[in-house]
Amino acid sequence: MNGFGSWLRQLGAKLGAGMRNFMVGRYGTDKLNTAILGAGLIACVITMFTKNKLFDLILALIAYGFMFWALSRTFSRNTYKRYQENRKFLQLMDWIKDRQHRYYNCPRCRQVVRVPRGKGKIAITCPKCRKKFIKKT
Ligand SMILES: [Zn+2]
Repeated sequence: MNGFGSWLRQLGAKLGAGMRNFMVGRYGTDKLNTAILGAGLIACVITMFTKNKLFDLILALIAYGFMFWALSRTFSRNTYKRYQENRKFLQLMDWIKDRQHRYYNCPRCRQVVRVPRGKGKIAITCPKCRKKFIKKT
């Protein structure tokens, strides 16, 4: 039994080293991946409660799609691009959580402009290109 235990430990160490080698230069996981997997899981859970076969199939495809997406991001070698995706996702989350401000895109240069909420109609000046536009906050 002892022999089997040490064999198992050796196998574990080998697999661990193999996995580390495999992951060299690959992206790994991040907050966006966690969110993608979470969304996939939610889709999976909903399929358990759906009676409609077609809806069930669509949800299952979405769930697999999300999981595949998360996996392909984890093993991606394009770490810069994956990092940028995650950064955008975190920024988006900040915007959703931010109840004090509203975010608008400048109609001319697409720059994101943050303005305080609940001020009624205000004139906004784009900080980048100085274009003025009116928005209700
Ligand atoms: Zn602008």
